[in-house]
Amino acid sequence: MTDPAVPRPTTSSQVYTWEPSNAAIAARYGLRPEDILRFDTNTSPAPPAFVPDALAGPFDPPLNEYPDSSYAELTAAAAAYTGTQPNEVVVGAGADEVLDLVAKAFLPAGSAALVPIPTYPMYGVLTSQRAARIVAVPRLGGGESFALDVPAVIARLPEVAVVWLCSPNNPTAAKEPEANLEAVIRAAAELPNGPLVVVDEAYFEFVGSTVLARPQRHPNVLAVRTVSKAFALAGVRVGYGVGNRSVIERLERVRPPGSISTISAHLAAGALRSPAYAQENVQALAAEREWLRDRLEAGGRPAWPSATNFLLVRIGDHDAAEAGAEGLLRAGIVPRTFGPANPLRGHLRLTVRSRPENERLLEAVAALR
Ligand code: PMP
Repeated sequence: MTDPAVPRPTTSSQVYTWEPSNAAIAARYGLRPEDILRFDTNTSPAPPAFVPDALAGPFDPPLNEYPDSSYAELTAAAAAYTGTQPNEVVVGAGADEVLDLVAKAFLPAGSAALVPIPTYPMYGVLTSQRAARIVAVPRLGGGESFALDVPAVIARLPEVAVVWLCSPNNPTAAKEPEANLEAVIRAAAELPNGPLVVVDEAYFEFVGSTVLARPQRHPNVLAVRTVSKAFALAGVRVGYGVGNRSVIERLERVRPPGSISTISAHLAAGALRSPAYAQENVQALAAEREWLRDRLEAGGRPAWPSATNFLLVRIGDHDAAEAGAEGLLRAGIVPRTFGPANPLRGHLRLTVRSRPENERLLEAVAALR
């Protein structure tokens, strides 16, 4: 029996909820929680290398005190990692909080934000939460790597206060051609009171190219990063934004003083100071991704090319994708699904996990009708 109190994972652009817990999914499908595998969250299957020592403490300030609200250690580590200055960095409880700061600071009620579709659902959610209008611009198709429709984006720039870009883009897994980012950023910069262009680089480490490396950085750009993906620290909840000082100052004015725990700030700073770990992780995951993609394709389930740690797999129409998701869930495999209004409604998004876990995924996929 299905429990109506346990919602299926959703990526609807209207409502964004976190996925049900392993316990909730196990209860719904009559499985053991320990047998559930998360193929829906794009996290790292390998544990981080640095936790035990770091957790030993002692912490400064100690855990009975509030964290340093300036997060000086974490901010310095993010600045060093990105080759910027601490006053060009804002930190948050995950990239999600940094995106929220952008919405709070740059999207007054009645303003508008541009959202290329399909993309990460939080941009639409945060825009709506601020009573701002979503200017949705469809992306090109899969044959064109789901790239931005640059002329269509540029045509709508005068209307908006924020442009939400994402490269590599979740959920299409494709990196945005740099010339496209450049064209949009330049056009935005040339407008009087032009919009802030946010480039969400949550999956940066998988591609290595960043809007921050552009020789001539425009002041209207904010790159957003996270330790949730390549650094294997999704549970720690730390992200950061890097941009011009004037943009960072506006974000600092709306940042909560203590949303990152002392432990999280310390672990994330340690991770950012040890980027070799992330590099090894992304290399291993990229190789595993191509192995998994080949196997899926050999089984008649082609996936689009991916520059990330997840695959966007073509299933059929929306009903077929829903049936596929249900079949996988029955086997304890959690895919990411797309709502009926999403252009990717006939797809499932699957995270690349460890080899034994991916083998279990392949078995469950092969058992689908
Ligand atoms: N941006 C994108 C594109 C993402 O895919 C995710 C995580 N799914 C986030 C932001 C949120 O990252 P964090 O865990 O740092 O909040």
